[in-house]
Amino acid sequence: MDTRPLQDRVAIVTGASSGIGRGIALELAREGARIVVADLQEQPKQGSLYEQGTATTTATEVERLGSEAHFVCADVSDASDVKGLVAECVGRFGRLDILVNNAGIGSGGPTQTLAEADWDRVIDVNVKGVLLTSQASLPHLRESPAGRIINIASVNAYRGGLGPDYTASKAAVANMTRDVAVEIGANGVTANSISPGAIGTAMQTHAEMLEKIRRVTPLGSIGMPRDIGRACVFLASDDAAWITGVDLPVDGGLLCGWTMSLD
Ligand code: NAD
Repeated sequence: MDTRPLQDRVAIVTGASSGIGRGIALELAREGARIVVADLQEQPKQGSLYEQGTATTTATEVERLGSEAHFVCADVSDASDVKGLVAECVGRFGRLDILVNNAGIGSGGPTQTLAEADWDRVIDVNVKGVLLTSQASLPHLRESPAGRIINIASVNAYRGGLGPDYTASKAAVANMTRDVAVEIGANGVTANSISPGAIGTAMQTHAEMLEKIRRVTPLGSIGMPRDIGRACVFLASDDAAWITGVDLPVDGGLLCGWTMSLD
């Protein structure tokens, strides 16, 4: 008998072709979940520091783990794409248990120069995208014996430094998570967020900045997509059935404080 914690569950993971979303999809699949990979592109991104050699699609890797996967091309900021995504998931697998809102983009620039169109795009993808996917998914999550929303925020929900659009969007994600947790608790659905610290993905392009972050991170290393994936497995599992509205930093200790010598 298969006793893996997410056996038979179905998950939509947005932005799952690359980086953290791919890591989440693979860890959920390893624990038995069937995965809908939702992204703008099926091929993984190639980074300059990380993921230079990632060639296979996420769906191929999920299948190698013995689970099932289905790719849907969808822009999370487009309401009709999102409705189609959820309909395709339920049409194919007959249910939806776990929604992971991971798709996100970085800042368009600092306050003094940020273009209005860039602000709008970041807020559309990072904030409105979470609303649209949650709205479309909730009728099905409510039917699940273990409905879960897991939103990917950031340590920049709590601190500045990566642009007004990005930091505002991630603070919004963490607080929207609390809001929906209150709304849907009575339906037996939980909503939690994860705030990653610096994670090695194609999004990382500044080697010097990353090394500075690594040096001040209490655990002394940059995280990997798998680290976020394992936290998602926990929040999706029955072990987390009574946890809702929480933001879980998975950041090597970065939010506790910087490692600095007192000598
Ligand atoms: P990434 O750029 O490596 O991957 C993001 C994926 O999302 C890509 O496959 C991309 O095609 C997809 N995507 C982008 N816009 C989309 C849209 N509108 N609709 C559907 N898919 C879309 O990024 P990552 O580093 O893996 O980051 C993933 C999430 O984690 C983001 O929300 C990001 O803000 C957050 N995060 C990342 C870090 C980090 O250090 N990498 C730290 C904290 C939080």
